[in-house]
Amino acid sequence: MFGLSKLFSSKSVQKQPIFAALAAYRSAAFAVGIDESFIKNITQNDDKSLTITLILPFAAQSEMPMVAEHVTNALKVAVTVSATVELKESAKFKTIKHIVLIASGKGGVGKSTTAVNLAGALHSEGAKVGILDADIYGPSIPMLLGLVGAEPITKDNKQLQPFDANGIKAQSIGFLVPSDDATVWRGPMASGALSQLLNETDWGELDYLIVDMPPGTGDIQLTMSQKVPASGTVIVTTPQDLALADAQKGIAMFNKVNVPVLGLIENMSHYICSHCGEANHVFGKDGAQKLAHKHGVPVLSHIPLAIDIREYSEQGKLIACDNTAAISKTYSAAARLIASTLYYQQHHNSVEIVITDD
Ligand code: ADP
Repeated sequence: MFGLSKLFSSKSVQKQPIFAALAAYRSAAFAVGIDESFIKNITQNDDKSLTITLILPFAAQSEMPMVAEHVTNALKVAVTVSATVELKESAKFKTIKHIVLIASGKGGVGKSTTAVNLAGALHSEGAKVGILDADIYGPSIPMLLGLVGAEPITKDNKQLQPFDANGIKAQSIGFLVPSDDATVWRGPMASGALSQLLNETDWGELDYLIVDMPPGTGDIQLTMSQKVPASGTVIVTTPQDLALADAQKGIAMFNKVNVPVLGLIENMSHYICSHCGEANHVFGKDGAQKLAHKHGVPVLSHIPLAIDIREYSEQGKLIACDNTAAISKTYSAAARLIASTLYYQQHHNSVEIVITDD
């Protein structure tokens, strides 16, 4: 007796059309299509439907229903796709595969809020994630993760244990040094503290470590960025002229220290009217797009000004991890785009990132 399904090797399954359909998949959150090397298994079921299992080399699990729909349409046969996440590359720093800096040219643009929600979104996409709060001017990650008052603990008086916030490992410079007087910080001191936190925290294996950098583009930020073996940086800005001018300085700074700028995130991009649903561009429109274009980097996401985002933050909860909140989709899409960009950046020399309007 045969089992319920025939295996991929079955002659009745045509591999090439499946490979072609997967390779042709495109979305706003995927840098490039799905390579056949991602395929773990393809099974044809008795009703001729296909079950595809992938091992994704970047965090993008929630994309799978869209991939299934695309392949179903291309092959005219019912397809389900599931995926686990397993990054193949070797760790760049200890047991950490990618360090991603979240920076901004000025304070108050929502850098920390974005950083912590991106960490949450990457975790929801199937990755092992940590967040390191390096914002010496106002470490806010403990508050954003509901960890206020937590005391750092050490194991054998050697390594600092990171905090666990719903599966995300977290560490903050605020635990190490009092933040009362940020004016005492100098570049070497700040970069020394950052190195110490990176080195002395027992992160375990991480796919992505998100670092919430201090805002600005001065000496302190420069020396800190030099200390971290980062795979890339994301610059958070608002559509306002002033914030964009500062973001431009940020791009220049990261170019100087050879940290690739993965893209810009335009935060507080627009306000959705709760009555009519119309998007109002309170702080102007297309500014980030123009700046990104000028520097040849993409706008990874337009995050609206939303009361929900602030309210979740104040309660120490991650809106990106709440599937019932509409805005979680925006953070997930940004996280998938960052993760896939990091992968393709490493595996192909040049990547054309297609940003669509949705
Ligand atoms: P930064 O790290 O750039 O100084 P924060 O992340 O601390 O900025 O955000 C500053 C304030 O703006 C916080 O009160 C935060 O809740 C709020 N905020 C950030 N992003 C948004 C958003 N998209 N919609 C509404 N409020 C936001």
